[in-house]
Amino acid sequence: MRVLVVEDERRMAAALQQGLQAEGFAVDLAHDGVDGLHQAREGGYDAIVLDVMLPKLSGYRVCERLRQEQNWVPILILSAKDGEYDQADGLDLGADDYLTKPFSYVVLAARLRALLRRGPTRRPAVLHAGDLRLDPARRRVFRGEAGIELTPREFALLEYLIRRPDEVISKSKILEHVWDAYASTDLNAVEVYVGYLRRKIDAPFGRNALQTVRGVGYRLAGDGG
Ligand code: CA
Repeated sequence: MRVLVVEDERRMAAALQQGLQAEGFAVDLAHDGVDGLHQAREGGYDAIVLDVMLPKLSGYRVCERLRQEQNWVPILILSAKDGEYDQADGLDLGADDYLTKPFSYVVLAARLRALLRRGPTRRPAVLHAGDLRLDPARRRVFRGEAGIELTPREFALLEYLIRRPDEVISKSKILEHVWDAYASTDLNAVEVYVGYLRRKIDAPFGRNALQTVRGVGYRLAGDGG
């Protein structure tokens, strides 16, 4: 099994190479994002271990570019960051797994073997409701050809609704899934964010995709409104 390790810190890269070779992997190294992307494109790798903080092109961008090019090689992201949002970013951009430094080579090798068993996985395609499109991997939203900028919370709300077209969803269900289940946020927050979202995805286009079902909740029209 051939693995590409993209890591700019030379000692760390050499240690990774040795550690993975000891676990039976053939390992090539790249020391910045541009070289990493180039080598990954050349193909021939069963998996890629990708550091986040890299010179020239970050690990997130390398991952994103490969997925945009329909390259589904399994990617494990390595990072010193341990925030939930960073993890979500990596996975949203199409990575398959995520490991925070410091880690043990035994764990890294086990995770890599799990990815190799699974093989290349196509990421979810772009979600549609009529001409309203949401791309979970690239975190982009479009109405027709027009790009729409959403905050992370607005994006999460739209993603939740667009995955359930024409379904009437209660405010409390939205709150539970889009906000932390234990957050003290009240139902008014849902109303407020539905309003924000309408001002971006509907009002400027004279449309009505995000509909209120009085006394019950909301529905995203499958035809885009
Ligand atoms: Ca680094």
